[in-house]
Amino acid sequence: PSPSKVLSVQELRKQYGATVAVDGISFDVGRNEIVGLLGPNGAGKTTTINMVLGVLEPSSGSIRIEDVELSRRRSQALARTNFAAVYAPLPGNLTVQQNLRVFGLIYGVKGLTQRIEELLAQFDLVRFRHVKCGVLSSGEQTRVALAKAMLNRPRLLLLDEPTASLDPSTARDIRARIREFATQGEGGVLWTSHNMYEVEEVCDRVLFVSRGKILLEGDPRRLPQQHGKATLEELFI
Ligand code: ATP
Repeated sequence: PSPSKVLSVQELRKQYGATVAVDGISFDVGRNEIVGLLGPNGAGKTTTINMVLGVLEPSSGSIRIEDVELSRRRSQALARTNFAAVYAPLPGNLTVQQNLRVFGLIYGVKGLTQRIEELLAQFDLVRFRHVKCGVLSSGEQTRVALAKAMLNRPRLLLLDEPTASLDPSTARDIRARIREFATQGEGGVLWTSHNMYEVEEVCDRVLFVSRGKILLEGDPRRLPQQHGKATLEELFI
């Protein structure tokens, strides 16, 4: 049987000289779960995500993706992960379809042609199929980035502010797509956001990080009441 946790982080720490960016963080992401990573600028969210992505070496601590320890079998662990960030543009001189094809080949996606068609339909990108990514609006590019991140049906999907550049109706639609991914598939999602309304709607659990430590953790719809506040915004700001 596949494990119920897709990500397990234990006592993760990252230090730059005298600056401790991440200070002993432990958390899990379950299969079919969306976990929100919240916190003010400089809290350590990006540093945490970059360590999970394998692009930053932790000072100490452990990261397991499903049952694989990242530091030991890096490529095997990372093959189960994918990442989408609103600030990471795709090659602009390739069309939407070419971009999906190139990344699909890199990921070794089986049945790639059909998978691309599914994702073009799912993210409302069919009419942009032959358009170069560089001329798309930022919201359209975000949709391509999300489709690209889902190409290989990752077990762990890392989303860094995925709706930041989207209009309200597209953002709602994207949240629904990501909920579908989490509830119907085999994966879990780690999501960073500064939008409390969105977090409340989409996340099953939130981790509130400040100065590299998790200060609060829980169900975003219950946490405020548990701490005598009316809204998440009141609790965190
Ligand atoms: P934001 O919401 O602004 O994206 P964040 O929560 O993602 O913030 P990080 O980017 O993880 O925050 O940064 C955490 C802390 O670590 C910050 O104080 C930052 O200045 C520091 N930091 C990050 N990278 C380095 C580095 N390469 N060298 C020194 N300090 C760093």
